[in-house]
Amino acid sequence: MLDLLNLTKIQMRDLFAAWNEPAYRVAQVDRWIYGREFATDYQAMTDLPRGLRERLTAETIIGAPPAIAKTASTDGLTRKVLLQLDDGQTIETVLMLYPDAPGSPALEEPRGLKRRTVCISTQVGCPIGCPFCATGQAGYIRNLTPGEIVAQVLHLARGASPLTNVVVMGMGEPFMKFDVTWQAIESLTDPARFGLGARRITVSTSGEIPGIERLAREKQQINLAISLHAPDDELRDVLVPLNRKYPLRDLMRAVRAYVEQTRRRVTFEYALMDGVNDQPWQARALTQMLRGLLCHVNLIPLNPTATSPYGRTPYERVRTFEQILRDAGIPTTLRVEKGIEIAAGCGQLRQSKK
Ligand code: SAH
Ligand code: SF4
Repeated sequence: MLDLLNLTKIQMRDLFAAWNEPAYRVAQVDRWIYGREFATDYQAMTDLPRGLRERLTAETIIGAPPAIAKTASTDGLTRKVLLQLDDGQTIETVLMLYPDAPGSPALEEPRGLKRRTVCISTQVGCPIGCPFCATGQAGYIRNLTPGEIVAQVLHLARGASPLTNVVVMGMGEPFMKFDVTWQAIESLTDPARFGLGARRITVSTSGEIPGIERLAREKQQINLAISLHAPDDELRDVLVPLNRKYPLRDLMRAVRAYVEQTRRRVTFEYALMDGVNDQPWQARALTQMLRGLLCHVNLIPLNPTATSPYGRTPYERVRTFEQILRDAGIPTTLRVEKGIEIAAGCGQLRQSKK
């Protein structure tokens, strides 16, 4: 059945026009779905005429994949849900709550928490196959639909509204099917729908160049993050196998073009792996590569996965690596670890319960 979450605004308008419904009904329905109650049932839409509610019920659905497993970290600040899609496939989606800054009044959670970020998936599994990532090691099944991507946000918004940030950093390579990811993002940023500011959305790619070029052309202030993880092709070919298709020289050229076109700062993600990519000479090679670029490096402590052949870099070496980047004038931060004990951290998401 037709899932309304899969329709763009224009497609919704066409559908309602074909049904001889006035155009303002579109905005009304959208408000119920994205903006007011996050409704999944047309009967709740009390300001719609009964005939329309019945027709919607008979011919369409509002996708709401049920959570078949839920886990929360001991501090309650990270919550992971396993959602079951129509064809039985499952995906993980994570909610991360960030406590108030020191000194601000403590309010009830989750409302009182400053940042409520959802991390969403774009594919069931991932075809890129990075060896340190549980998603990549589990293989690839299929892309999600725009509706299935948006449904993840709506699911978690029900318990933690208003959400403040969305990161497209869950399972899958979001730029493999750019149009799908983009349609989902448009539903999130559209003021008549979810209404999230573009600057509050970050998309992370393993280096799919055509997607970076497309994002540059869309005049929206979405944040771009690039999973770098290595300063040379030899190593990156292994760590991020997409590098064999889009080697660093081409990738960096695309990123520089993106920054020139958009004037926006790009984030590079770099997961530190013990003895693999964490040596001082590699930090220096990285500073060479990023010289003069409007960017920011986010160092990620490697999260354990069942199949990863790599270990985590000891803290001392993390600090050394970080200092080399900082001394070269590159803004560098260490990613806050969240949800590791419930396997909700970066690279730990999979399509199963265990
Ligand atoms: N597939 C996209 C987006 C999702 S992954 C991408 O790779 O960019 C989000 C980030 O977590 C990426 O930078 C990814 O490389 C990183 N990551 C994957 N596995 C990890 C692990 N085991 N520990 C820490 N970070 C990991
Ligand atoms: Fe895919 Fe990203 Fe995992 Fe690599 S790190 S396998 S691109 S999800």
